[in-house]
Amino acid sequence: MSATPTTTFVSPHPYATLRAAEEAERGEAISPRRETLLYLNGVSKSFDGFKAINNLSLVLQRGEMRAIIGPNGAGKTTMMDIITGKTRPDTGEVFFGGETDLTRHDEADIASMGIGRKFQKPTVFESHSVEDNLRLAIAGSRGVFSALFHRRDMAERARREEILETVRLSAKRNTRAADLSHGQKQWLEIGMLLAQDPQLLLVDEPVAGMTDAETEETARLLREIAQTRSVVVVEHDMHFVRALGVKVTCLHEGSVLSEGTLDHVSADPKVVEVYLGR
Ligand code: ADP
Ligand code: MG
Repeated sequence: MSATPTTTFVSPHPYATLRAAEEAERGEAISPRRETLLYLNGVSKSFDGFKAINNLSLVLQRGEMRAIIGPNGAGKTTMMDIITGKTRPDTGEVFFGGETDLTRHDEADIASMGIGRKFQKPTVFESHSVEDNLRLAIAGSRGVFSALFHRRDMAERARREEILETVRLSAKRNTRAADLSHGQKQWLEIGMLLAQDPQLLLVDEPVAGMTDAETEETARLLREIAQTRSVVVVEHDMHFVRALGVKVTCLHEGSVLSEGTLDHVSADPKVVEVYLGR
């Protein structure tokens, strides 16, 4: 396996060229580079000689929500591991906000930069109420400012109310997390991530095990969240992906197999062959 870790920042950064080309293709004016929130280029990662991620490139705009689909083992979770610093790629570039080389930072750093990740299994504090879970999450993300306790309490309460509303749990605030439905636990965990005020939210298979009604509500919830942040959501449920109504990337064997609207991607014979036609 190659090669030198690509951690050098070349100028002009290649994505500028890529973006310019894409925009020219769409007939748009060249927008400032800061509009790209996440930029992966030529990323590869092997485990014992097996290429889990293979020359993967992906560009996410600020404020964009992207759905990632693809068969089991395609590298979807590994891609999230790389973005969040859990796994270091062998080669390739991973930039956040156009400037920050994520391959040079560890998980804690990356979380504090504003990248929140929701794993498949909810990890809420079961014996605490919904509101206490959020209280803890908000306190845990406290900045160094707001030394005035009263003012801070007011701000945190407002934030809590806002999050409770977003994740559809206002009426469940006093319920123990253990007594929530599976779907509500997932929403609570999304709420706990929102407490960190991330710019980018990575969500891995959020609707697995949810009822149809919860699944539909989750699509609405994520669309609301995506009005103020970027979201990358991995999901197999095509009904859910359709409800998101966003650009879709299909991964296969660690690379992008197809990308575009859901209609475009799901009509792509390559996608039908390896994924949808299973
Ligand atoms: P997906 O989420 O698309 O189902 P994953 O990213 O979990 O796929 O896995 C991609 C491939 O990489 C799989 O073959 C998996 O077994 C392998 N893999 C992922 N993480 C590791 C690891 N830490 N060690 C060894 N193999 C891994
Ligand atoms: Mg996975």
